[in-house]
Amino acid sequence: MRSITNKIHIIGSGLAGLSTAINAIKKKINCEIYESSKNAGGRCRSFFDKQIDLEIDNGNHLVFSANKNFLNFCETIGSMSTFKLISQDLKFFDIESSHSWELGFKESLLKNIFFKCPIPKTLFFDYLSFLKFLFVKNNTTVDELVGRSKIFTTFWEPFTLAVMNTSPDYASAKVLSNVLKETLFKGKKNCLIYQPIKNWGESLIDPAVRFIKKNKVRINFNETLRKVYTRQGKIEELVFTNKKVKIKDGERVVFAIPPSNIVKLFPEFSLPCDYNTILNIHYKVSSKNQKLFKNEILGFINTISQWVFIKKNCISITVSDANKFNSLDSDEITKEVWKEVCAFLGKKIQYENAKIIKEKKATYIQSPKNNALIQKFNEKKINNIFAGDWTQNTLPCTIEASILSGKKAIESL
Ligand SMILES: Cc1cc2nc3c(=O)[nH]c(=O)nc-3n(C[C@H](O)[C@H](O)[C@H](O)COP(=O)(O)OP(=O)(O)OC[C@H]3O[C@@H](n4cnc5c(N)ncnc54)[C@H](O)[C@@H]3O)c2cc1C
Repeated sequence: MRSITNKIHIIGSGLAGLSTAINAIKKKINCEIYESSKNAGGRCRSFFDKQIDLEIDNGNHLVFSANKNFLNFCETIGSMSTFKLISQDLKFFDIESSHSWELGFKESLLKNIFFKCPIPKTLFFDYLSFLKFLFVKNNTTVDELVGRSKIFTTFWEPFTLAVMNTSPDYASAKVLSNVLKETLFKGKKNCLIYQPIKNWGESLIDPAVRFIKKNKVRINFNETLRKVYTRQGKIEELVFTNKKVKIKDGERVVFAIPPSNIVKLFPEFSLPCDYNTILNIHYKVSSKNQKLFKNEILGFINTISQWVFIKKNCISITVSDANKFNSLDSDEITKEVWKEVCAFLGKKIQYENAKIIKEKKATYIQSPKNNALIQKFNEKKINNIFAGDWTQNTLPCTIEASILSGKKAIESL
């Protein structure tokens, strides 16, 4: 069926906004983007930081090979060659017991788990909690499902935090089960980890913006949407920092912005309003010290640090569900976390400089209650639609969800 839409106004140039524009271009629909900041990328951005004299990502994003929409997006913008696949085993280190172990990627992960029982002091039975995810109710949390499992601290907790940025006490088991069914349950081919060779800006955001500009779509930076005029549910006018835009008949608006900003424009909406921080600490190190690390990614257990990414001249730590660190002194956290890195190496080494980034609204708390709010909200509107990672309530708030939301926004018009 031919689309009757003759122009789409896209608010936000995060991955959801960029994906909306790219899908509109593919369908030959005219569109224009409005973005409040001076760059595209939103919560997935890279920048040069003077303090540590390095180009860094705001966060260490990790994407699985199961993420088909992400892969299609990269094919479209021609950036596949800027990624590497992490095919090594994923190494974990428990600071309390000093045990370390590896989750194998060389063969099926599930086979590896059930036959090799890789986590120290565990038996085959301890891994049966995986099977509980085959039958999950919408209102169950991960803790309710597997809280008593012997591999809770060593597997379920770190996996839930990494995937959902929500502690197992609150995280929706249904959403996590959807991830498991697409990744671990499908085997090695879906569990490989994509990482940019340089950074996410170079691999995802810059090529997407180039694609959009090449197709003559205008991106208006420094334009915050401040007010929306509606009549009987229909959007009539958008008021930005420097301009007003009338929405003509046949035109559509896609709001690709987070729920915290949606409710400023539409205070009558009931949307999740509780968020979790993701904390990242980037340590600049000499190349000699960088070579002390043999893996590209490490998982830490019983530590503040959850994931360690080893990059060129940079050791980068990720801590999810990190609201408790929002008010703590950044220098203190930086020093404490570095002690954990040294404990792993078994020797004291120095970093040259460090940069801490607290993304206070990294994602909303992905609980069954919040999930239900979003499901209710996602019904069809007259001349607008909402996109963004948060709108895909069967998936966690991720790059995959944001890219998919843009695709679905265009398909629904
Ligand atoms: C530290 C961190 C680590 C993460 N790690 C991972 C990971 O490992 N794997 C993974 O898949 N995902 C990860 N994510 C999640 C992923 O980054 C997000 O899901 C994705 O970037 C969201 O894109 P989006 O377009 O939906 O929203 P956003 O990126 O938030 O984009 C919204 C855009 O809209 C703009 N905007 C907002 N309000 C207005 C307004 N009123 N007018 C105009 N413009 C407006 C904003 O400036 C922004 O550019 C992580 C996120 C963070 C913060």
